[in-house]
Amino acid sequence: MADDPDERWLALACDLAELCPPSETAFSVGAVVVGPDGTELARGFSRESDPSDHAEEAALAKLASVPSGATIYSSLEPCGARKSRPRPCAELIVAAGIRRVVFAWREPSLFVEGVGDEYLRAHEVEVVELPSLSARARKPNAHLLD
Ligand SMILES: [Zn+2]
Repeated sequence: MADDPDERWLALACDLAELCPPSETAFSVGAVVVGPDGTELARGFSRESDPSDHAEEAALAKLASVPSGATIYSSLEPCGARKSRPRPCAELIVAAGIRRVVFAWREPSLFVEGVGDEYLRAHEVEVVELPSLSARARKPNAHLLD
């Protein structure tokens, strides 16, 4: 498992999700942006500096620009709609020029419909789902899923 860079980075994103301030109304998510050379560019997690922060958004906000060929790893499927802010993460990812997304857990339709995957694919982003890590991504959200 540690030999596969996708699994390694996604496992880190799942670990970051554990750092999120607790919430009863939003998922805890971690995200890492990795450059084409395999080095970490930025990381983030939900509610990192503001209660409305999403993980992907928090990571992308730390980058002035994203090199082409970058990948974003997120423990949860990037949102395609959200209530807290006008731009969902799927849109922010496309706008940042990221063309590859790896996530562990498909967004359950709890707060909004999970349409991030469809939005990303429609904008020619390669989307990879690694369900082997979904249990780890779900863990900090167990209280929301009962
Ligand atoms: Zn989001």
